[in-house]
Amino acid sequence: MDNNQRRYIFVTGGVLSSLGKGITSSSIATLLKHSGFKVGVLKIDPYINVDPGTMSPFEHGEVFVTYDGAETDLDIGHYERFLDVNFSSKNNFTTGQIYSAVIERERKGGYLGKTIQIVPHIVDEIKDRIRLASEEVEVLVVELGGTVGDIEGLPFLEAMREIKQELGSRQVMSVHVTLIPLIKAAGELKTKPTQHSVQELRRIGITPQVIIARSEKPLPSELKKKLSLSCDVNLDSVIVAEDAPSIYQVPINFMREGLLSPITRYLQLEKLEPNLNDWDRLVKQILSPKEEVTLAFVGKYLNLKESYKSLTEALIHSGANLDIRVNIKWCDSEEIENKGVEVLEYVDGILVPGGFGMRGVKGKMEAIRYARENDVPFLGICLGMQLALIEFMRNHLGVLGADSVEFDKETSDPVVYLIQDFIDQNGEKQIRTKTSPMGGTMRLGEYECQIKANSRLQDAYQGYSSIKERHRHRYEVNPAYRSQFETAGLIVSGESNGLIEALEIAEHTWFIGVQFHPEFTSRLQSPNPLITSFLKTMLNCKKQAR
Ligand code: GLN
Repeated sequence: MDNNQRRYIFVTGGVLSSLGKGITSSSIATLLKHSGFKVGVLKIDPYINVDPGTMSPFEHGEVFVTYDGAETDLDIGHYERFLDVNFSSKNNFTTGQIYSAVIERERKGGYLGKTIQIVPHIVDEIKDRIRLASEEVEVLVVELGGTVGDIEGLPFLEAMREIKQELGSRQVMSVHVTLIPLIKAAGELKTKPTQHSVQELRRIGITPQVIIARSEKPLPSELKKKLSLSCDVNLDSVIVAEDAPSIYQVPINFMREGLLSPITRYLQLEKLEPNLNDWDRLVKQILSPKEEVTLAFVGKYLNLKESYKSLTEALIHSGANLDIRVNIKWCDSEEIENKGVEVLEYVDGILVPGGFGMRGVKGKMEAIRYARENDVPFLGICLGMQLALIEFMRNHLGVLGADSVEFDKETSDPVVYLIQDFIDQNGEKQIRTKTSPMGGTMRLGEYECQIKANSRLQDAYQGYSSIKERHRHRYEVNPAYRSQFETAGLIVSGESNGLIEALEIAEHTWFIGVQFHPEFTSRLQSPNPLITSFLKTMLNCKKQAR
């Protein structure tokens, strides 16, 4: 792509966080993609952590994993789900990464004795990484995390300002997302916080061309005029983003609100005519589907659903494509431990997602036992699969000491053991690992998985004998126990270089555990086949029971 043709759209946020900048950036990119452009999205996180890999899910929500094994912000997941493309480690960076790289270069003498400063050295490193992310695309949407006015955001805003100065206004535009709060007592929508936020941006040298105003209610035309005048943007560039019933409705709403005309005008593009027919159909099926099923989601971070973002979105994608709504019954695993499995009666399927640590594990295993013994469709993901094996070994085979060394280092039967132990016994076998700062070897990113012929897994993956899915775990099924559990009916249906990737019970309607995370590859327009097959089975079982 010619550097003189590439366009950049910088998306910043004002007033407060959690305004949906990720969905805004994804939606702008979606409209451009469906208009025929090759589009990329980059998320910049101004925090000092090198990546979110070590952050608590309570602090940060889900850690999204790219195919090349980067642990990234969950917004990268939104970008992939909207755009149906694989992004990489290049599409997310943090202040921590920028400073680490600059300091490392300085230590190696890479700056030839110069004094290293935020301007130009840190800002130059930021600009280099923005360029790197734009290499293969025609339009790069760059989302800056946090809010204008944050101290840690300043070097990034400076980088954006400089890029515009270097490339000019035909190649670079700025979109500012803000909140128009509704003061309930007065029944009034207020524009003042937006005016202040735009003033702050302009003080730094950035004038936004478009304002995306988040609002609970439609904005009266006089308020739009006021925003236009006070924020120095054209009237057609004040785009009102009312709360939408589905995030996938947002690109359609933006188009109706006329967002494409300022983008076309400022970036001097030909008329944009996105084809959203298929997208529109899927959104309609999300909002008013023909059928519904109820799924028990047995987890422990239930007060923070953001930590299961990719999975709940994947259920929406598969549901939309099957024209069914998935009603999620959130089941706290610790409550199952205390109160029993009654909450699982009358559900159409049971899902045990990934997780770390001992808390809630007992309740998850009780849910798995219920699914196994009552022939309820079951999907176990990562930890969910490891627990399915432990449950089977203990309750079906009577190996009472069966455990994961994650929960008991001294266990008599380590049926789930450390990846490092697997590597020590079997050799490296091209496992892409990262030694996490918390200790332990983490297996990350995409791997090929060979599927056993005529298994349920193969049926789910539409007959394919090899697939690729993404991983994030420190522990593995211990192959020393393989013949014992296979003889008893828990079959290995997926493998990768000797690593056990999938287990299923042949005698069960649909009981599958997978070491990978199918949710990371699900997109609205190409849902994950395993999750789709799970939902399809749930629906069939529900219909048969009628
Ligand atoms: N805690 C388990 C492991 O590290 C499972 C991880 C997960 O579910 N993502 O292997």
